[in-house]
Amino acid sequence: MTDVEIECVRGNIASQPDVDAVVNAANADLLPGSGVAGAIHSTAGPGLNRECRGLAPIRPGQAVITSGHDLPNSHVIHCLGPVYGVDEPSEPLLADCYRNALLLADQRGLSSVAFPAISTGVFGYPIHEAARVAVQTVMGTLVRLTSIRLVRFVLFSEQDLAEFQQALRRFS
Ligand code: ADP
Repeated sequence: MTDVEIECVRGNIASQPDVDAVVNAANADLLPGSGVAGAIHSTAGPGLNRECRGLAPIRPGQAVITSGHDLPNSHVIHCLGPVYGVDEPSEPLLADCYRNALLLADQRGLSSVAFPAISTGVFGYPIHEAARVAVQTVMGTLVRLTSIRLVRFVLFSEQDLAEFQQALRRFS
């Protein structure tokens, strides 16, 4: 197990120049869409969309990796979170996203990854529960990691940031 720093910041997932990989809260077809996927694809440019076509569709809990194209990051890890109340059981599917993304990044020898709050936008997962699952899963996966040194949660609102900070205090 490496010594891993976990932090929460308020910001835009598509503007995290100091991390190796950003995580996309993707849709099954890995299309640009809205929210996180829209921000990532519009910054990454059409090359990302082209690369994604060969990898889609993905299923809830799955993670796939591409290059970062015009993003400041070398890689994007695309995760399909569960639609709350539809893809059941939602908690292990959400946990799979965080675990699979970290393991994929670690296998590639990356040292830093930034996550948005997967499933908490259009997919409707309550932020308080999602923050707990995210933090607990990242903490529980650390023991399996060898190259990751930094995990960052990037939250869009002050309220979401407070939820993640609280979860981090509670579970670390
Ligand atoms: P999902 O479909 O998995 O719910 P969304 O992209 O709709 O994904 O939203 C996930 C979370 O990311 C929401 O909390 C939303 O407020 C937040 N979000 C939206 N755009 C950005 C962005 N550019 N950077 C970081 N977080 C974002």
